[in-house]
Amino acid sequence: IKEAHPESNKRVPAIVDALEKLELTPKHRGSQVLEIQNFYPASLDDVARVHSRTYITGLEKAMSKALDEGLIFIEGTGPTYATQTTFAESLLSAGAGITLVDSVVAASKLGLSPPLGFALIRPPGHHAVPEGPMGFCVFGNIAVAARYAQCQHGLKRVMIIDFDVHHGNGTCDAFYDDPDIFFLSTHQLGSYPGTGKMNLIGQGSGEGTTLNLPLPGGSGDYSMRCAFDEVIAPSAQRFKPDIILVSAGYDAHALDPLAGLQFTTGTFYMLASSIKQLARELCSGRCVFFLEGGYNLQSLSSSVADTFRAFLDEPSLAAQFDDPAMLYEEPTRRIKEAIEKVRHLHSL
Ligand SMILES: [Zn+2]
Repeated sequence: IKEAHPESNKRVPAIVDALEKLELTPKHRGSQVLEIQNFYPASLDDVARVHSRTYITGLEKAMSKALDEGLIFIEGTGPTYATQTTFAESLLSAGAGITLVDSVVAASKLGLSPPLGFALIRPPGHHAVPEGPMGFCVFGNIAVAARYAQCQHGLKRVMIIDFDVHHGNGTCDAFYDDPDIFFLSTHQLGSYPGTGKMNLIGQGSGEGTTLNLPLPGGSGDYSMRCAFDEVIAPSAQRFKPDIILVSAGYDAHALDPLAGLQFTTGTFYMLASSIKQLARELCSGRCVFFLEGGYNLQSLSSSVADTFRAFLDEPSLAAQFDDPAMLYEEPTRRIKEAIEKVRHLHSL
């Protein structure tokens, strides 16, 4: 069942294979690419900055049920499965993000441009809500890391950019009234879980620090370039973050089976390289990516590899992977309208 479920345990090995094949690992790059293998799991206190204690202890207890039954579907909305190791693995997944925050912060104190972090983790996290799991996600890895960056490193202002094809509803909920965490999500209009309408801009003192940009089906490279230049960059420049965290989902790729956008490997390269520039310009280069979705193993692994090339300031190899024949015309007029509307709502 695990292999047949789209959020399968083949995803990370497929990425690692591609990184090896394309010579993007420490073996080929020496100190240019650092791999952190040994890291601590997140503590329950780290996770409890985002999730309720009731949920955390309930999940821990459910593990003994999974031990008896092998595989259980855990409560909540959307198909999320658990095995007896899910609790421990989810803490480890959140711990990887925290470790990368530590490492990026430490490097930023030493040099002008610290390496970017990429947490190649599963399960993903951005749908997990404060009260429970949801949509393949157990703990909000990026939300836990955001709170950790604030509490442990005094990085008060955190910007979260979520370009997964689905709305990062869990992250959105966690920080909806928080003025110090800017959550910006692009996602396909009407896709799972149906949240993330444009007029939801945060509440209370957090009004204005949530930005949702739903993209019409068929949106691709052109749309995302406009969204970056006209919405993402100006939002970040105005917010002035101390660190940028990225929910990097690769399921907006044209080949992904779960959605209907038309990003290409080149789109993900553009995003990685532009976000890196923003981080350099605004927060001493402090930036960590978190793997979220991406369910076509081919497009997932080539797009993550191209993300790594952008991190290394190397040219994209997207032309090797992207076949323009697979694309159809983007709904440019509707994109422009959506961008105009969101800019108006947020006075950009
Ligand atoms: Zn997704």
